[in-house]
Amino acid sequence: DTPLLAVEDLHVEFHTRAGVVRAVNGVNYTLNPGETLAVLGESGSGKSVTAQAIMGILDMPPAVIPEGRIRFRGTDLLKLSDHDRSKVRGQRIAMVFQDALSALNPVFTVGWQISEMFQVHRGMSKRDAMAKAVELMDRVRIPAAKQRVNDYPHQFSGGMRQRIMIAMSIALDPEVLIADEPTTALDVTVQAQIMELLGELQRESNMGLILITHDLGVVADVADKISVMYGGRIVENAPVHEIYRNPAHPYTKGLLESIPRVDLKGQELYAIKGMPPNLLDMPSGCAFHPRCPYRQDDCVSDSPQLHVIGGARSSACHYWREVLDGGNE
Ligand code: SF4
Ligand code: MG
Repeated sequence: DTPLLAVEDLHVEFHTRAGVVRAVNGVNYTLNPGETLAVLGESGSGKSVTAQAIMGILDMPPAVIPEGRIRFRGTDLLKLSDHDRSKVRGQRIAMVFQDALSALNPVFTVGWQISEMFQVHRGMSKRDAMAKAVELMDRVRIPAAKQRVNDYPHQFSGGMRQRIMIAMSIALDPEVLIADEPTTALDVTVQAQIMELLGELQRESNMGLILITHDLGVVADVADKISVMYGGRIVENAPVHEIYRNPAHPYTKGLLESIPRVDLKGQELYAIKGMPPNLLDMPSGCAFHPRCPYRQDDCVSDSPQLHVIGGARSSACHYWREVLDGGNE
C-alpha cells in the first residue's frame, strides 16, 4: 500500500558563510490517513525544517536538498514543477504555525481572511465564502461565530486566534495537516483544548496529522506514534503508549523525565545536561554521546544506525537493551 505521505532519506543543508549546516541528515517517516505522528525534539533537531521541506516553504538557497524524496500519495513532491506543487501546498497539505498573531493580518477581519480562501481557491462568491467562514469558525468551536466573524484578530484571545488559524488550515479539506508547535505560545489549559480540537477534526475528516513539538507531555493523548529527532536524525520510532512506558533511546528517556509531573511538585526537575549538537560541527560517532549517561567507548567512534528492535519500534542506540531494561546510572 502506498502511504499518504512518505519522507524518504531526506537531507537538508543550509549553505552559510560559516559553513554547511546539516539540518536534516537522512530522515524517514510515513503517515497514513487518520494517523497522528508526533515529531519530537529540541529546537535545532531538524523537525521544523523537515516539515518546511514537506510544505515546500524552505528558502532555496540558502537551503539545499541534496538527497531524499517526499512522496505524497506516491508522487515525489521534490520533482514537481512549481505550478503543480502550488496545487498541493496549502490545499492538500496544510500547516498550522506557532504564532497565530503574526500569521494573521491585523487590518482585516477574521471572516474576511477565512473567506478569502474560498474565493481564491474555490471561486465562491463573497457572500457564500463568508457563510463558509462562519461554518468553519463554528467547527473549530469559536463561540458566537456569527457575531464574531467581523472582529479583528486582536479582539480574540491567543487560544481563539489559534482556532482561527486552524480553521484556515482545514478550510480546503487537506489530506495532511502539519502543526508546528501549535500550542507553545498558550497556557497549559488552552494547550490541552487545542490538542483536543486537532484530534477531533482529524477523526471527523480522517486527515493524516503531524504534530511537531518539543514537549512529550502535550501529545500523549492525541498521537498514535512518535518519532524522536536529535541532530537532524530520527533516534527513536515507537507507538505512543510504548514510548511512555519504556523508551529505547537515552535521549527519549531524558525528555520523558523532563516532563513536569504534578505528583512530584517541589522536586527538582530532571533536565538533559549539556547543549544540543552544533550542526556545523557534529560530534563524532553518536551525536548524543557528549550528553549520554549510557555512553561507552565505541559510541564516540561508531555512529549508531536507526534499526528495528521489535514490532513497530526502532532505535539508533548501540545500548538500547540497557536503556529498555531501565538501567539508569
Ligand atoms: Fe548513548 Fe551510545 Fe546510545 Fe549514543 S549510542 S545514545 S552515546 S549509549
Ligand atoms: Mg521549530
